[in-house]
Amino acid sequence: MIVYFIGTGGSEGIPAHLCTCSTCSEARKLGFAQRRPSTLAVVTDNKKAVLFDVGTDIRDFLNVPLEAIFLTHWHHDHIYGLYKLRWMAKETVLYAPEGHADALILREPKNLQPRAIKPGDTVELDTLKITAFRLNHQVETLGYLIEEDGKSVALLYDTKGLPGETWGLLGEKAPLRLAIVDATYPPGTDDPYHNNVDEAAEIGLKLAERTVLSHISHKNLPFLELTEYVRKKWGNRVLVAYDGMVFYV
Ligand SMILES: [Zn+2]
Ligand SMILES: [Zn+2]
Ligand SMILES: [Zn+2]
Repeated sequence: MIVYFIGTGGSEGIPAHLCTCSTCSEARKLGFAQRRPSTLAVVTDNKKAVLFDVGTDIRDFLNVPLEAIFLTHWHHDHIYGLYKLRWMAKETVLYAPEGHADALILREPKNLQPRAIKPGDTVELDTLKITAFRLNHQVETLGYLIEEDGKSVALLYDTKGLPGETWGLLGEKAPLRLAIVDATYPPGTDDPYHNNVDEAAEIGLKLAERTVLSHISHKNLPFLELTEYVRKKWGNRVLVAYDGMVFYV
């Protein structure tokens, strides 16, 4: 499968509107340092696409039929591309946790077909097997284990650490090929709902051969400083996501 990082930012995106912090200022100079909110696609060996979170309008990046859409949770930075995508000319199933669901999308889903998904549920789509599990966030949030042909990817945002049951489930499958982990904040920040860079890397290193840090806020280090920090500390076992990044699993 191919993992396509369409959006790798947090709620505000980078640069945040009118913000003059060093991360946002750098991103106005270097296009690759700009980040859209969380949006990820998986393209299967059969070239079918599945979307995980829709934090942005995807039409410029992925204009193909979707086998399904999965939401990790209903925070706006993971769903607001849905307001536009629901008008697409093909009925598409939207798997999402029940908690804190968006009233407008449920009342007027247009061509989306919302379906509840809960921890432990497994969905088979084309060549993929997708299993939902619990994460630690301020609203009900699911991570996903995406398996194809003996290879697996864990999607771990938004979260602070992992619940014990999730360590158990993923530990049985380790080493995974890839862990994509919430790294919202810079080293040293302690937040109840999101990891900092060190916490995120430690989770990934325990579970997977490669870790990609994503869901990066403008409060994190500027792009060049962040990639240098990560490269010096973990070599190529841990990478910093960027919008447009493609990872072959
Ligand atoms: Zn988020
Ligand atoms: Zn900023
Ligand atoms: Zn969130």
